[in-house]
Amino acid sequence: MTMRIERINNGIVLDHIKAGMGIHILKLFEVELLHTKIDYASYIDSPSLGMKDIIKIENLDVDPKMLMKMALLAPDITISFIRDGHVDKKVKPEVPPLVEGVINCPNPKCITQQEVYLTSRFQVAFEEDGRLRQQCLFCEHIFYS
Ligand SMILES: [Zn+2]
Repeated sequence: MTMRIERINNGIVLDHIKAGMGIHILKLFEVELLHTKIDYASYIDSPSLGMKDIIKIENLDVDPKMLMKMALLAPDITISFIRDGHVDKKVKPEVPPLVEGVINCPNPKCITQQEVYLTSRFQVAFEEDGRLRQQCLFCEHIFYS
């Protein structure tokens, strides 16, 4: 598949997203993406990942918490910040072993779902097969990305 994504002058480019995960990355955003130009290409050939997704979003900046959320969904993700047509900086967020207050536990019976003042806490580690294992420290529910 050839790249048909347009260049952007200002915004962010999210690359090296595991194929099919791009849609989940886009779901992290809410109103920020209204009236915004988005280019989303899925299942592109990648020498390192086999297949990958790429997303370009115009006129958007992201904070460190959002970078962490994206890295939890797509551990290989790189984020390029584009200013005036040039890559201003490129980051590959590291996933720390303990993630606090960034993601919500998907277990509906978890105490963090009822007691909203609790700060979510997850132990995060890579499995041998490359999947990212995330375990809630309240209910011990485990999920993977
Ligand atoms: Zn939980």
